[in-house]
Amino acid sequence: QTQFIFHSLQAKMSRPVQARRLEGIDKNIWVEFVKLAATYSKVNLGQGFPDFPAPDFLREALARALSGGNHMLHQYTRAFGHPPLVKVLAQFFEKLLGRDLDPMTNVMVTVGAYQALFCCFQALVDEGDEVIIIEPFFDCYEPMVKMAGGTPVFVPLRLNPPKDGKLMSSADWQLDPAELASKFSERTKAIVLNSPNNPLGKVFSRGELGLIAELCVKHDVLCISDEVYEWLVYDGKQHIRIASLPGMWERTVIIGSAGKTFSATGWKVGWVVGPDRLLQHLRTVHQNSVYHCATIAQEAVAQGFQRELMLYGKPESYFVQLPKELQQKRDWLVQSLDGVGMKPIIPEGTYFLVADISPFKSDVPDVPNSDEPYDSRFAKWMVKNKGLAAIPLSAFYSEAHKNNYTNFIRFCFAKEEATLKAASDILQKWKQEKTSS
Ligand code: PMP
Repeated sequence: QTQFIFHSLQAKMSRPVQARRLEGIDKNIWVEFVKLAATYSKVNLGQGFPDFPAPDFLREALARALSGGNHMLHQYTRAFGHPPLVKVLAQFFEKLLGRDLDPMTNVMVTVGAYQALFCCFQALVDEGDEVIIIEPFFDCYEPMVKMAGGTPVFVPLRLNPPKDGKLMSSADWQLDPAELASKFSERTKAIVLNSPNNPLGKVFSRGELGLIAELCVKHDVLCISDEVYEWLVYDGKQHIRIASLPGMWERTVIIGSAGKTFSATGWKVGWVVGPDRLLQHLRTVHQNSVYHCATIAQEAVAQGFQRELMLYGKPESYFVQLPKELQQKRDWLVQSLDGVGMKPIIPEGTYFLVADISPFKSDVPDVPNSDEPYDSRFAKWMVKNKGLAAIPLSAFYSEAHKNNYTNFIRFCFAKEEATLKAASDILQKWKQEKTSS
């Protein structure tokens, strides 16, 4: 009798519990490397977040929202965005895009840019649709497309190294126009554009954006434009919004993040801006999943944007000051990496910098026929043995192309001077040990 019950229980438990759409997407680079950094790192230039405080005006806005007179800020708000936030975002993007926007239908607030991306793929991609992703890419695009039943189609930024012995720049990584065009077909539903690009820091030029736009219009393809680093652009370069190019507004969803914009990644406030014909479907996903994000954080971000709207383009604006400060940090890290022979690729934007690990490779032996790309093993070795955390570049490539770029790691330079100096000290000491051994 007992045996019979046991057998029937076993039979029930042999049924697969995992939904098919989760197959092959269980690994996540951030889960793995954040844990490694927490366990071993003395200096963490891995995951992309500032270790300096969010600006005073934003923290004060949160404090006011928390303990001010309006106790309703502790309760639910409108599903698609707290009214003060969608209103000010609409005003702000009207300025940036030069078109009228309706806060209720052209803007939606999400739980960080991450959920904005999730809403886009769930709402716009069907079984059998292809989605073009430009490599290297922010890693979540691939599993999110797959979870929606779509097929990612990759097109690489190809490196044209500078010939004059100068340091590489993210601008040296370019799309091959014919190769890009060859990826578009009647199956293509969307392309994901990320400018400024994580991990390289590439800021796409007007010419490159024009080419993408032309192909989108020709093939009736949507553009999911991840612009979370829109304010982090250096050397007087300009961030161009693809939605402002002819024929693109109607087919583009712009994604932004207060985490990146106001140096408050833990708040997880993001947004989408776009035409109602696209956003209405994102709203369907949003209302049936998270519904809305924390009211109090939205209120504080709204106040942050109100300040920035008043100071738009002025030297006191955070969107002017932050890139100025980050450019100095970038230049400092570029010099310091160049000094130890870890050739940096100078980023035109974002707060990431990719560098060549070649001079340090002899300390981390290659394992022939390993499934794990060399740079990943290198980054793990570095955090465990030197206490310095960074992210392997191969993490930003598809499975099929991971082994093409295994000579680089990505550093985040949105860090206090002392943190950057500590990272530089580790590398210098390491280099000295190598030369003396
Ligand atoms: N897109 C890109 C390109 C990113 O780098 C990140 C964060 N690292 C996100 C989206 C997610 O942003 P959030 O923290 O607002 O969810």
